[in-house]
Amino acid sequence: MAEKKIKVLHIDVGGCEGCASLVLRTLPLLRDRFEIHSKYVEDEVSLRDHYDIALVTGSICLNDEEEVSKLREIRNAANIVAALGSCAAVGGVTLFARGGQEPKPEHRVWQPISTVIEVDYVMPGCPPAPAAVKTLLENIVSGKGYFLNLFASAAKMRKFSGYDLMDDVVLTGLCVGCGACVLSCPTNALQMIDRHPDLIPEKCIRCGTCYVRCPRASQLMIKRFLVKPKVLGGGGRA
Ligand code: SF4
Ligand code: SF4
Repeated sequence: MAEKKIKVLHIDVGGCEGCASLVLRTLPLLRDRFEIHSKYVEDEVSLRDHYDIALVTGSICLNDEEEVSKLREIRNAANIVAALGSCAAVGGVTLFARGGQEPKPEHRVWQPISTVIEVDYVMPGCPPAPAAVKTLLENIVSGKGYFLNLFASAAKMRKFSGYDLMDDVVLTGLCVGCGACVLSCPTNALQMIDRHPDLIPEKCIRCGTCYVRCPRASQLMIKRFLVKPKVLGGGGRA
């Protein structure tokens, strides 16, 4: 008998939709084990159904009551909720919004989705890589893997940015000069100077990618926020 597929809901609540297209790019990698429900691949998705995992992309506009209540429905509909991409995870570039943009100039305040609901995993990235999303989902199903601790701990971080990397790793002397942060930055806001990264503040969009890519920062984060990651346990329900 064919193995039952894991039911995954994808909802985009705001932002540039770059992370929504990341989910689309990840679909071919997931088809064998996961059944993906997303408005980007079917006409409508029901929040009255039950899902094993919900993937939420985009940050939440606190001035948009409809989206805020949709987010609460998503939490009720899914065993596990993962915030995918920097806007959902930490607000990212939308933290710079101050309203006045069309078509809804009254929308002023965007926040990470954890401002409204409890989130089990957050994966920053602008956008994250499809292979990383696949690994996280597989780890959640199998109940093992490094990504569980990494992204469950990340769900407890209040904020991520190049400043936090500087404060926690570079200025404390923990940096080993590997350059992973510089390579991961989508805006070239980090540059190596004398074998250590330095931040160009005006280029930092607060996406948090450098922090989770840094081997030192990610270890610190896991140590600080180690929690029991919520998993499905061998393909069943959480
Ligand atoms: S330094 Fe780069 S990778 Fe780090 S938070 Fe800023 S934009 Fe993102
Ligand atoms: S990834 Fe971390 S350890 Fe490596 S250069 Fe950047 S700050 Fe230093």
